Amino acid sequence: MALPTPRPGVLEIAPYIGGESRADAERVIRLASNESPLGPSPQAVAAYSDLAGALHRYPDGGAVALRAAIAARHDLDPARIVCGAGSDELIALLINAYAGPGDEVLHSAHGFLMYAISAKAAGARPVAAPETDLCADVDVLLEHVSARTRLVFLANPNNPTGSFVSAAALARLRGDLPEHVLLVVDAAYAEYVSDNAYSSGMELVHDATNVVMTRTFSKIYGLSALRLGWAYCPPPVADVLNRVRGPFNVSTPAQAAGAAAIADTAFTEAARVHAVGWRDWTAGRLRDLGLTVHPSIANFLLIDFSGVADSRGGRPEKLAEVARLWLKQRGILVRQMGAYGLPHCLRMSIGTAEDMPAVVDAVGAFLGEAA
Ligand SMILES: *Cc1c(COP(=O)(O)O)cnc(C)c1O
Repeated sequence: MALPTPRPGVLEIAPYIGGESRADAERVIRLASNESPLGPSPQAVAAYSDLAGALHRYPDGGAVALRAAIAARHDLDPARIVCGAGSDELIALLINAYAGPGDEVLHSAHGFLMYAISAKAAGARPVAAPETDLCADVDVLLEHVSARTRLVFLANPNNPTGSFVSAAALARLRGDLPEHVLLVVDAAYAEYVSDNAYSSGMELVHDATNVVMTRTFSKIYGLSALRLGWAYCPPPVADVLNRVRGPFNVSTPAQAAGAAAIADTAFTEAARVHAVGWRDWTAGRLRDLGLTVHPSIANFLLIDFSGVADSRGGRPEKLAEVARLWLKQRGILVRQMGAYGLPHCLRMSIGTAEDMPAVVDAVGAFLGEAA
C-alpha cells in the first residue's frame, strides 16, 4: 500500500528557520528577526487587553473596522484591502491562487525566503533572477520572465539586503511585464523609508489589474506576535483572495490592535526616527571597525565579514559564524544568512538605545580578540 504522499515539491522545501530568540545570558538582545525594539503603540496594547472577555466570540470575518482604519490612514478603498495572518499568509494565498504545477514564481536572488517556500508548497517552480550589487535588477527580472511565469515577487526594500528598487524602476517593471503576470510588491519595511526615489508600489495598484502591494504589522507596528498583514489589490485579485482565505483568518485581538496601531501615527513616527537614527549610527561605528555594512533603508543592517576575513587570511563565512556564536554567548542574537546565499554576512536588526552601543562594543571586542 502506498503511504500518504505530499505533492511534488513539498519535500524539497527547506523549512523556514526563524531568528533565534533564546540565549544563555542574563540580558538577551534580540536582533535576529527585524522586530521593533519599542514594541507596539500603548493604544494597540490597550485594544488587545480589552478583548480578554470576548475570546469565545468569532472574529469579524470581514475585518471591517481594521480595513477602514488602514484605508483611512492611506487614503485607499477598503474594498480593495484584504487582511491576512501576517503577510506570509497573503504571499502563500496569492501563490496558491495563481500558480501551481508547471508554473514559475519569479523573485530576485537574495529576496525574502517565503516566496520560494510558498512556490514549492504550491507545486510551482521558484525562479531566482540574479541581483546587481545585492539589489534586485529590473532588467534581469524581466529577462527571466517566461511563458510559465505567473507571479513576480519583489520585496521593496528587500530583506535581508536593505536595498531598494526606485519608483521609476518599479514602474518600468510593471510596464514591461506581460498582463497575465501578477507583480507582488512586498513593502514590509515601507514605513521606515523617507527616500524620495522610493515608492511602496501603492500608486501602481490604483489603476493596474496585475499589481498587488503587501504590508505587515510585524515590523514598525511591533505586532509580530499577533500575525497581521494586509494586501492592497485590484478588485479581481481582492475577490480571489476573499474566496481562498479562511473565513476567520485574522483574530479579533489582531484586528483590534492593528486598527489602534495604524491610527497612532505619532508612535509610528517615533519608531521610524528611532530605527533610522540608530541604524545610521550603528552602520557608521561598524564601518569604523573595518566591516563592510551595506546601505540599508530599513530597520536592519547586512554586515559583510569578507574584507576583515581577507585581511586576516581567514574564510569570510567562518568568521561570520564565529562572530555570531561569540555574540550569542554574550546574549546578542543576530541572524545567519546562509539560507539567503550570503553565508559571509550577518543581519542585525536595530534594537534599543541601550542595545546598540553595547552591540557595537561587543563586535569591537570580538574583532580585537579574533585579530
Ligand atoms: C518580515 C517580513 C514580512 C512580514 O511577514 P509577516 O508574516 O507579516 O510577519 C514580509 N516580507 C518581508 C520581506 C519581511 O521581511
